Amino acid sequence: MGINTETAEKTLRGKVALVTGASRGIGRAIALKLGSMGAAVLVNYSGSADRAAEVAAQIEALGGNAEAVCCDVADYAACGRMAEEIIGRYGKVDILVNNAGIARDNLILRMSEEEYDSVLNVNLKGAFNTIRHLSRYFLKQRSGKIINISSVSGVLGNAGQANYSASKAGLIGLTKSVARELAGRGICVNAVAPGFIDTEMTKAMPEKAREAAVDMIPMKRMGLPEEIAEAVGFLAGGGADYITGQVICVDGGMAI
Ligand code: NAP
Repeated sequence: MGINTETAEKTLRGKVALVTGASRGIGRAIALKLGSMGAAVLVNYSGSADRAAEVAAQIEALGGNAEAVCCDVADYAACGRMAEEIIGRYGKVDILVNNAGIARDNLILRMSEEEYDSVLNVNLKGAFNTIRHLSRYFLKQRSGKIINISSVSGVLGNAGQANYSASKAGLIGLTKSVARELAGRGICVNAVAPGFIDTEMTKAMPEKAREAAVDMIPMKRMGLPEEIAEAVGFLAGGGADYITGQVICVDGGMAI
């Protein structure tokens, strides 16, 4: 499944979108989708400068407007600087997608403090950091969309992923609380919970574990990054202006 970037309706023309962790995988697909819908896209990354630049170039090649922005989302002060830089250049952010995420799987008896802290710091605190620094601009403009990428692991739990599940369940709590705080100003805050998606994160799993995971999916196949991007595109658009505080599972039925 590809995104038809040329014929997509430009319903986000004039909007500015920040997508964290957009140098590959799901974040890349989201950046391309929002770009194809006409938004100017800030393609955030922490280490993969070349790949982020490629994503931005791909959006520009299709007539869009995009640039790569380096920032470790786990770093509170750096997120503050990124927010100021974006506001200084674009004057606003309309769509914030907190997608940056890492996994450091281990059984609880073997999980190190570092494995726990690093995952929580990127996946959960990273979303707090960007929301904390950008929400005052959302509040001023009295509109905006915040979309947090959670996981089926945060909804159901998953053996070997206590740190990751905690971060993704935490994102759901963050989503619902911030949704309640910002709803009165017309700002929508939602989460998308992907199931088992074909990206470099899941390619790192042993083949046997991947096969076992696919077997647990009612639709019996992995999802594609573009299928997550479709849900994000919907939530970012005007058709979802009355939806807030929700978790949309895009998982082939895993969380049924
Ligand atoms: P991925 O292929 O590993 O890509 C992760 C992205 O996050 C990369 O662009 C990476 O860029 C960026 N990133 C990592 N640490 C960062 C940091 N500290 N600051 C800024 N960017 C950072 O992962 P993916 O599979 O596309 O997953 C994307 C999101 O979906 C994650 O939140 C993940 O938990 C979630 N998710 C994935 C699946 C799945 O099956 N794949 C399922 C459910 C949820 P750099 O290399 O530049 O750091």
